[in-house]
Amino acid sequence: MTGKVYLVGAGPGAPDLLTLRAARLLERADIVYYDALVQPETLALAGHAVQIAVGKRCGRHTTAQRFINKRLVDASARFEVVVRLKGGDPMLFGRAQEEIDALRAAGIEFEVVPGVTAASAASADLGISLTRRGRARSVCFVTPRVGAGEPDNDWAQNVIAADTAVIYMGSGLADPISAVLIERGQAGGTPVALVENASLPECRITFGELRDLPRMAQATGGGPVLIVLGEILREAASSSGAVLRLLKRA
Ligand code: SAH
Repeated sequence: MTGKVYLVGAGPGAPDLLTLRAARLLERADIVYYDALVQPETLALAGHAVQIAVGKRCGRHTTAQRFINKRLVDASARFEVVVRLKGGDPMLFGRAQEEIDALRAAGIEFEVVPGVTAASAASADLGISLTRRGRARSVCFVTPRVGAGEPDNDWAQNVIAADTAVIYMGSGLADPISAVLIERGQAGGTPVALVENASLPECRITFGELRDLPRMAQATGGGPVLIVLGEILREAASSSGAVLRLLKRA
């Protein structure tokens, strides 16, 4: 048998933010390899599939990634519909390329199904456009994390150059992010929002300024967090005075 491997975006968390294509594929899946951030309700759509947790939160090792690549290749020999389910959009900060390269090298058919990335969900929860007219004409999605053996990454330069910056996998690095940006000339008073658990009922938003970022990050819970920076947040950050806002959904 030669199966097909689908790299599918699970969206930011809320199961109903899954695309119809993703939901239909999950229903047809024979085996699903899923990441840590995928919600149980999303996984439940893959009713008849073998479900295998891969992915760790933060600091995935190259060997672990190689192992996942190999499992996908091997699975296509045994299953018709193989789904690799990744949080958000699979093509953003999800190591999709390594998996695609491994599948290509092995001559295995694959397809990518895009998903709603965390930045879109955060923007929706904030009720603030990332490209708010007159304030922002550029957005950068960036991470300061660099894997072992990878070339250095001038994330700070990108954050400073963009009107709006959305930093993925950054809350554990809040101290250096704040310090490096200020040292490189970004104003300490730049408005910042931390959005934790975007799209989920337990979503929590904190507003503040770049200089407060370390303190703000310390106050987050255990969920995934995005750091949003830029003038689009000016009113929200000053009117809420860095107080915690709890968003409750019905
Ligand atoms: N491919 C994913 C990103 C994977 S990297 C996407 O497109 O969204 C994992 C990082 O994404 C987390 O460390 C966090 O910064 C961010 N993230 C993922 N889900 C999130 C959520 N629901 N709320 C806030 N941030 C989230």
